[in-house]
Amino acid sequence: MKVYILNHPFHYEIENICRMFYPNAELKLVYAADDGDTGDRIVTELVKQGGYHYKASAFVGGRTCEEELTSEPCSDKQAEYELALCLYRALTRLTGVTPVWGMLTGVRPSKLMNTLIHEMGEENAQAYFRQKLFVSEERTRLALAVANAQREIFEQNTPESFSLYVSIPFCPSRCSYCSFVSHSITNSNAKKLLAPYLENLKKEIAAAGETARQLGLRLESVYFGGGTPGILTAEQTDELLTAIQTHFDCSTCREVTFEGGRADVITRDKLLTLKAHRVDRVSINPQTYDDAVLCAIGRRHTAQQAIDAFHLAEEIGFRTINTDLIAGLPGEAVSGFCASLDQAVALGSQNITVHALALKRSSRLVAQENADLNTDDTARQMVDYANRTLREKGYIPYYMYRQSRCVGNLENVGWCLPGHECLYNVYMMEELHTVFGVGAGAVTRLKTPGVNYIERIFNFKYPYEYNSRFDELLLRKQRISGFYREYHEKSREGGEAHV
Ligand code: SF4
Repeated sequence: MKVYILNHPFHYEIENICRMFYPNAELKLVYAADDGDTGDRIVTELVKQGGYHYKASAFVGGRTCEEELTSEPCSDKQAEYELALCLYRALTRLTGVTPVWGMLTGVRPSKLMNTLIHEMGEENAQAYFRQKLFVSEERTRLALAVANAQREIFEQNTPESFSLYVSIPFCPSRCSYCSFVSHSITNSNAKKLLAPYLENLKKEIAAAGETARQLGLRLESVYFGGGTPGILTAEQTDELLTAIQTHFDCSTCREVTFEGGRADVITRDKLLTLKAHRVDRVSINPQTYDDAVLCAIGRRHTAQQAIDAFHLAEEIGFRTINTDLIAGLPGEAVSGFCASLDQAVALGSQNITVHALALKRSSRLVAQENADLNTDDTARQMVDYANRTLREKGYIPYYMYRQSRCVGNLENVGWCLPGHECLYNVYMMEELHTVFGVGAGAVTRLKTPGVNYIERIFNFKYPYEYNSRFDELLLRKQRISGFYREYHEKSREGGEAHV
């Protein structure tokens, strides 16, 4: 479908709004007025003559809808909003669809809620969500509940705070919906890469620890993600945790999370190793407790294995066990998802993260099986059931984010029993402080207090590249010290760094 962008620079927001209503369409942006195409198309235009005139028209599936708005000359930010509103109204009328997040396209609704509360207070922030962005009553309350649950975590953050993310981009097999750069460890090339990868990872941990020490930073949390960190043997896990304890001052560290991931790799000796290193949170992620769906999405374990792994982690004594579930998996009915959620609650999982399926183009489901995102309201029913049930059972929503190409434009929400929040997830999603990312595909996010600016340093994406260009990567990381040096210099001069 062609999307015409005429006389304005707001293509990013316009494309996002179109994607909400047509998640499966291939969108092609066109910057010329009329190329004679009479196929499905959306035209957006800003005319500046005296005042500003915004126009949006959609011609899709033989139906047409047009909207117009006018305003006084205004800032780009306001003009972008007006044009997006114009398009949103046209597409809502044309499709009959009212997205639960209204015209909010950003990936961090609770971050926006936090910012608005800070700027205009809680009442006005909610009114902004409802009246300016057309977010549903229920989603407005959800974003507010998340913002409120985070308050204490915000207050405990210090200017020196930072967290460490360790990337293990290997998995036991590849899930059909996955678009992440993760290597299946059954592949012989991946197996060969792993040993040198871990050697380099330990060197990178050492270098990061030295940088943190020189800068006087304070470690708040460590997160092992992937991929599936659970593919590591107990010895490999022990070596990585020992490296962290050797090179970082862990006395301030409030939380260590390890994504065990899939039940087929979780063993007693691995969990005992984690426990011996005082890891307090593990994730065991079935995504569903339906064996047929597990098989269909390429996860080579059964629901019973996931339950057994949970009991094992419980027996070993982890304070918090997280369970990830996905709403909208192919072949899963609403009743199946509800049964999975009930199972996670019955197990007593202290943290349950409910994701809405996102289908990226690089996933096997899309690239090889031509799957489309389901546009009926199945996933919405699932997520609504989860929200209702988890609340009733005493869970609170404490972090959230949205993804592009996500079923029903829904959200991912971390729920927990009070006191079991994953601090790292809040730090990350709310962009509270610097995160040092180590390992292939990891991103270092540099953030200084009071400044809404983040500088990113990207590690090489693939393990082979990470191994072969490791020295280059270490050089790149010298920028971390430069970033903090500039910040301190500016602070001394009384100015604002990186605005
Ligand atoms: S376990 Fe996660 S990272 Fe690994 S293939 Fe499946 S979805 Fe992707």
